[in-house]
Parts: sequence; C-alpha cells; structure tokens
Amino acid sequence: MRELAKLLEARLIVAVGDITAFSGDAIVNAANSGLLGGGGVDGAIHRSGGPDILAECRTLRASRLRDGLPTGQAVMTGAGRLAVRAVIHTVGPVWSGGGRGEPELLASCYANCLKLAESSGFESIAFPAISTGVYGYPRNQAGSVAFRTIASFAREHALPGSIWLVFHSEAEANAFLEAISPEASRESPGRTP
Ligand code: ADP
Repeated sequence: MRELAKLLEARLIVAVGDITAFSGDAIVNAANSGLLGGGGVDGAIHRSGGPDILAECRTLRASRLRDGLPTGQAVMTGAGRLAVRAVIHTVGPVWSGGGRGEPELLASCYANCLKLAESSGFESIAFPAISTGVYGYPRNQAGSVAFRTIASFAREHALPGSIWLVFHSEAEANAFLEAISPEASRESPGRTP
C-alpha cells in the first residue's frame, strides 16, 4: 500500500493498493445487504481473510440481521487471517441517478463505520471507495461525499486518529485528489493535496 497524500492535518491518508494488505485496526468492506460475499472488494476481503468472516456474517444473518444489512448501515465482525482486528461491513447505495437519497446514504456508510471504529477505541481504519464499483456511483461525486463526511467526523472526534482511503489504482486516487482539491484547501488553508 502506497501513500499518495495526507489531508486534514494528516488525519486522512490517501493511498493506492489492495485494502486487504492494510495493517491497522479495521478495514471497511463495501458489502451487499446479504452479507454473504460478492465480487470486487468484498470478494477480495473474504478470499484473503478466510472462512471465519463469512461464518460470522452467516451468524448475523441468522440472528439480528435476518433481513440483511440495510443500505447506509454498518456492522463489525472479526477479520480472520487479515492483519487487522476487525472488518466493518457497510452497504453503499446503488447509483440510480442521484435522486434517491444516494448522497445521504453514502455519507451514512462513512459516518456509521467511523462511529463503530470510534466506539471500539480504534486508532486506524481503511476505507475502499464504497459504491464506485459495481454499484456505479460516479467517482468524483462519491469522493466528495467521502471527503466531507470524514472531515466533519474528524472535527468532532479524536478517534480514529488515522483514516485511510485506499484506491485500487493510482488513476482513481489522483481523480479523487483532483475532485476534492477545492474542498481540501478550504479545510486546510495554505495547503494543497
Ligand atoms: P460496490 O459494490 O460498493 O460498488 P466494489 O467492490 O464493486 O463495491 O467497488 C468498490 C471500489 O473498490 C471500486 O473502486 C474498486 O475499484 C475497489 N476495489 C476492488 N477491489 C479492491 C481491493 N482489493 N482493494 C481496494 N479497493 C478495491
């Protein structure tokens, strides 16, 4: 995992790589509401983490999440063989034009994951670009929702101290940095990403 930039007084680290290689307290899974695995980052997390994560998801589905995890919400499991303490699963909105509450739901994903991490006393958390794969959320708009939600959470909470946004390619990471550049300079006057 390669760091590209630090924003929000170094609380937000923008990186490129495979999120399953993150070592820290938690990684976020862009899951689907069934919680039983899928493609993209979800598949990668279950492949690298091994069967324990899926077993815990199945238990959740058989108990307090019988109808699945609603969009915008988050739930935590162990991390199997991954080099983190927990996986926080969240369900991003499927993009359908932007008029169906997608920005609010995507913001809830980031905020709810951060709340879970904070209440667990976690120092570090790594997010993938939720909803921007199969769920089709336009990357620039998703980036700006992610940035604003993280910035506002970071202003009010001391934990997690390190919040990573991990992009799968350098092109995606650079597009994110470009999209949020005006907002980023408002958050940290005098600095540019
Ligand atoms: P969603 O269904 O929420 O759109 P996807 O898994 O399809 O989720 O994609 C979310 C983002 O995760 C995409 O930008 C994709 O490029 C990225 N991604 C896929 N695999 C990985 C990985 N191993 N590490 C980091 N990001 C990944």
